Amino acid sequence: MVAPPPPSDVSAGPVKDKPFKVIIVGGGVAGLALAHCLEKANVDYILLEKGVIAPTWGTSISMHPNGCRILDQIGALDEVEKYCVPMNRFFNRGPDGHPFVYDYFFKSVLERTGYTTLTLERRLFLKALYDTLEHRERVHEHQRVAAVVERKDSVAVVMQDGSEHVGDLVVGADGVHSLCRELMWKKANETIEGYISAAEKRSKQCGGVLANNYLQDNADADILCTAMKTTYVAIIANVPQMPGLGPNDMHATSFDKVSFLVLCQPDTIYLAAHFKLPHRGAVPLA
Ligand SMILES: Cc1cc2nc3c(=O)[nH]c(=O)nc-3n(C[C@H](O)[C@H](O)[C@H](O)COP(=O)(O)OP(=O)(O)OC[C@H]3O[C@@H](n4cnc5c(N)ncnc54)[C@H](O)[C@@H]3O)c2cc1C
Repeated sequence: MVAPPPPSDVSAGPVKDKPFKVIIVGGGVAGLALAHCLEKANVDYILLEKGVIAPTWGTSISMHPNGCRILDQIGALDEVEKYCVPMNRFFNRGPDGHPFVYDYFFKSVLERTGYTTLTLERRLFLKALYDTLEHRERVHEHQRVAAVVERKDSVAVVMQDGSEHVGDLVVGADGVHSLCRELMWKKANETIEGYISAAEKRSKQCGGVLANNYLQDNADADILCTAMKTTYVAIIANVPQMPGLGPNDMHATSFDKVSFLVLCQPDTIYLAAHFKLPHRGAVPLA
């Protein structure tokens, strides 16, 4: 068993008289939600996003009651609700297209939890999170973080152009291909050799092909390899509304190894086709 790394001397710095500042790397779902939480807690922050907030690409996102409850707490639920109509019926269909189950599923969920399910364009969801921030001036676009430097009583993130932002805590909210996670792995291994095992890093380190060879060649791979694994892949699309599908119903149609999910909103249908893979694979698939 490997001992945990010793506490960094960063914590040994003097208590400062200026406000504690958090640097959030990434302006996606997690980064914007954290910005809201910090505002509620009256903690200063800066959010750095390498691209733009709410980019035009991406399809839908569905907020279920657990997510809606948090949106309500941070004061963004009303804004998100402006962009969609709550989901209504759920149809489960077999290969012949006939529903074998259908009911007012989302209404029952609302009755039981107090929150409904919202499906909307992902771009509009991110826009709603951004628009409801009190301190939007703290959010900076086109700021790609390239490095994180720990100092005695502060931490700096270094941008691609060499400029810096200084704060007290860096939070990596930079998604599934996180640079911050990679830097933390590096730091952990510099502190204690082998602390983050190669198996743990497998998918990032080697890419999909080697990770998948590893999964197939090692009986204990599922335990050792903590990289994300997947059994399905999906193709996603937005299409215009179609008569007969309902303005806010959900339809799932299942075939052998293929299924379709159709999420209807009054002007758009969000479509996902899921395919079962021949083998369980590590992400990213290659
Ligand atoms: C097709 C699809 C459908 C989904 N549907 C749902 C759904 O219905 N409901 C649901 O709850 N979840 C859904 N998810 C999952 C959900 O989208 C993710 O869990 C969520 O986006 C993760 O949020 P995040 O903030 O961690 O990462 P992201 O949303 O990926 O945000 C990371 C951000 O960090 C930025 N960034 C990255 N590197 C840097 C850097 N070096 N410097 C500065 N910025 C950087 C990126 O540009 C990005 O904006 C779906 C995912 C996909 C792919």
